Amino acid sequence: MSEDDTRQTPRSWVYSFSEPNGPGRELLGGKGAELANLTRLGFPIPPGFTITTKACRHYLRHGESPAAMWDQVSEAMTALEQQAGRAYGGGPKPLLVSVRSGAAASMPGMMDTVLNVGINDDVAEHLASSYGESFALDVHRRFVEMYAEVVLGVSTDPIEAAKADARAAGGVSRIEELDPPEARELLAHMIALVEDEALQPVPFDPGEQLRSAIEAVFRSWMSRRAIDYRSHHGIGADLGTAASVMAMVYGNADRDSCSGVLFTRDPATGERRIFGEYLARSQGEDVVAGIATPQPLEAMAESLPEAYSELVEVAERIEAHYEDPQDIEFTVEGRRPYILQTRTAKRSARAAVRVAVEMCDEGILTSDRALLSVPADRVYQILLPRLDEGEAALARNGGRLLTTGLGASPGGVTGVVALTADRAVEMAAAGRRVLLVRPETSAEDVHGFIAAAGVLTARGGATSHAAVVARGLGKPCVVGTEAIQVRPDLGRITCDGRSIEEGQDLSIDGASGEVFLGALATVEARVDEERHLRRLLAWADQRRRLGVRANADTEAEVALAREFGADGVGLCRTEHMFFEPERLDLVRQMILTANAFARWPQDELNAWRYRNVLDRLQAIQAGDFEKILTAMGDMPVVIRLLDPPLHEFLPSHDELLEELHALRVRRATRREIVDREDLLAAVEEMREANPMLGLRGCRLGILHPDIFKMQVRALADAVRAVRTAGLSPRPEIMVPLVSDPSEMIAVRRILEEALDAAAEAGEEPFAPRIGAMIETPRAALLADRFTESAEFFSFGTNDLTQLAFGFSRDDAEGKFLVRYLQDGVLKSDPFQTIDRRGVGGLILAGLDAVRRTGRDVETGVCGEHGGDPASVEFFESAGVDYVSCSPYRVPVARLAAAQAAIRTPANRTSPDGSPQQPAGQS
Ligand code: PEP
Ligand code: MG
Repeated sequence: MSEDDTRQTPRSWVYSFSEPNGPGRELLGGKGAELANLTRLGFPIPPGFTITTKACRHYLRHGESPAAMWDQVSEAMTALEQQAGRAYGGGPKPLLVSVRSGAAASMPGMMDTVLNVGINDDVAEHLASSYGESFALDVHRRFVEMYAEVVLGVSTDPIEAAKADARAAGGVSRIEELDPPEARELLAHMIALVEDEALQPVPFDPGEQLRSAIEAVFRSWMSRRAIDYRSHHGIGADLGTAASVMAMVYGNADRDSCSGVLFTRDPATGERRIFGEYLARSQGEDVVAGIATPQPLEAMAESLPEAYSELVEVAERIEAHYEDPQDIEFTVEGRRPYILQTRTAKRSARAAVRVAVEMCDEGILTSDRALLSVPADRVYQILLPRLDEGEAALARNGGRLLTTGLGASPGGVTGVVALTADRAVEMAAAGRRVLLVRPETSAEDVHGFIAAAGVLTARGGATSHAAVVARGLGKPCVVGTEAIQVRPDLGRITCDGRSIEEGQDLSIDGASGEVFLGALATVEARVDEERHLRRLLAWADQRRRLGVRANADTEAEVALAREFGADGVGLCRTEHMFFEPERLDLVRQMILTANAFARWPQDELNAWRYRNVLDRLQAIQAGDFEKILTAMGDMPVVIRLLDPPLHEFLPSHDELLEELHALRVRRATRREIVDREDLLAAVEEMREANPMLGLRGCRLGILHPDIFKMQVRALADAVRAVRTAGLSPRPEIMVPLVSDPSEMIAVRRILEEALDAAAEAGEEPFAPRIGAMIETPRAALLADRFTESAEFFSFGTNDLTQLAFGFSRDDAEGKFLVRYLQDGVLKSDPFQTIDRRGVGGLILAGLDAVRRTGRDVETGVCGEHGGDPASVEFFESAGVDYVSCSPYRVPVARLAAAQAAIRTPANRTSPDGSPQQPAGQS
């Protein structure tokens, strides 16, 4: 039957709460469905009925409600009168109703509700004789106010002004406290005001009031805030809202009445205690609208003890029914509690974890359900300092949100702006908390990263090397804030006409990408106190199949990796070990001498210098390897040979030109000038149009084998030292960015030469596994042919995504990808969540090819996707052996891996999610 067909079966538009077999939330909305459910279960819900979302859709499409719907509303009203024992629009105890919105997806506060519908002067008189005159006037005024705003669209300003005047004249703080004559005068004034503004009166006829209120609720589906909320949360625009009509119960009836909101567990901590607020002599919206300061719910135990215990008992039963903490709206009328709404309680990340663990302990949830109940991504938030949520909300409302970029490394931080890495170091040394703000970052800036508390860049994407470094350091980082112009030369940044000087405070939220003006308070993470998280993760470890390793390059990161429960190091990016200033200088010398050596091997002085600098780097690297291997004990540690384009270690061409110019102007020494000129010549020679596609990874080792050999010697030295200390280290060597098996064979030969040389030098045998990083589409497609030269594979999904899409990982996210996501060209950022069909297809093809060889080859994933829950689910179904991610993401990946194991059926899936032939696992 089509939606347009208005000759529906009699019960198709309206369903009573007590209907035994009503439809689900798509038609009744979340609120309507829950009210019906609770009514059937015998909870104290005022009687009522729900008009379906389908009726709303009809109204929005045709501009009028279906005629049959009105017939059904009349019938439902008659039934409601009988259930309530009151008459709508008259009688000694008149029935008033509320008309409430409620969509299938939760959209809290985004649509409208009208209370006290059905009142006019005559009805008010009847109400006055049962409940008292003040009450009747209060209810009438509330109705006029809400009707004017919601149905007639009248601005609230003149009404609020009239109320303020009346409060001042009556010397009261709440309108409810006015004496009847003043309250009556205010009501008459308001009715006149509304009529003036709306050019029509508030209808006298209760039937007309009801019809208009219902249609106004339907229209509120299209209000600005509802539309914005839907587009932000990806809720379908054409679903429509249901409208629930419910007998009014009065929290403002007398001293023994109140209204309030309660959570069955503390939404901030998760502690099992009823947590809420109420306001005596009030109606529903007052508590949330901040009309007066509500009291904590515990105070009700004193003022209304019976109602309080009944309410607590009902709330606990409702939670037990849903097996999930609830957020409940209630009213107490004359000491009798009524439930007006219940929904799943929104909770902090910390609360979500505690609730999951305790509900499992209480026997309500199985451990699998407890594991599934915590969104894995949120675990991350628990471990990082963050901006105080209240202060951030105030800053947003107060116009202090400067701009929003890409959240590249979560956590919140406030600091004084430093515009160069050197300034960051100086300012930090002077005891200031620094936010390093750069146009973009390079290895040159890493000392600034280390000194700064957080990093903000105008350009770059969330997997650019700069963002990766920040994440590794656990520093909050926002990148791609294209609205910001960073002007170190002028000592300031500008953004949309605002100017922020170096030394002023800015705050960043590295999760949402927000940048705020001024200082905001931060809330510290206390990992050692997270006992609930530790327990949940222990359950996760028992449940997961996937290994979870960390991407860690320093002693500090390795320590974090262990603390967060990594099973090993899946990626040690050796180039990160050279980012410190003294080391950087050595790397520069290495690059210059390596270049010269490649050209003029017969230049003995240069050859000597080259060897000398390699020896010094070897000693440094051996020391670092030793610490990492010692810290990881007998867990695997995958050492990746030097990868990034060498120019990343050199100063920028433009900066060098400027420096040289400055040296010449100030007549610097010949030596200083020649040094810079040499550096400039090297930079010019090494400049590449596409460095990401240039001299990187294995290509570097093939052109400069001595560099890779130096790394192997350093590793051999480290292993010897660690073994001497009585440990059994398990290093593995990984070759980056291969695209042809012959590259792997060539590099393997180089590495084996170095290993043989070490063995000949009388060292203990050391034969680490050598693996390939699968980061190019070609390597993925030819993975089987790599099995002859590689003993393990790790998919580098950052580069694989870059190369599969042809999107620059340094630029795409800050540039066109934002628009792609806004316009729905792509549904998610492929650098964050694996693109299942394309990049995922390459991974599956690679895995399949490897399996078909019948060789036992371990497979992992070490791109940023290794810490993204949706991607982890894919990797589980694809059958890789482990994921590896930045240390702070390790707990996320542990939980996500367990969730994926619970959700993924035994059969592995194809990229689009359909079952595939089971494949023999490696
Ligand atoms: C990758 O490309 O996925 C990867 C892990 O290597 P990097 O990010 O260092 O290029
Ligand atoms: Mg890579």
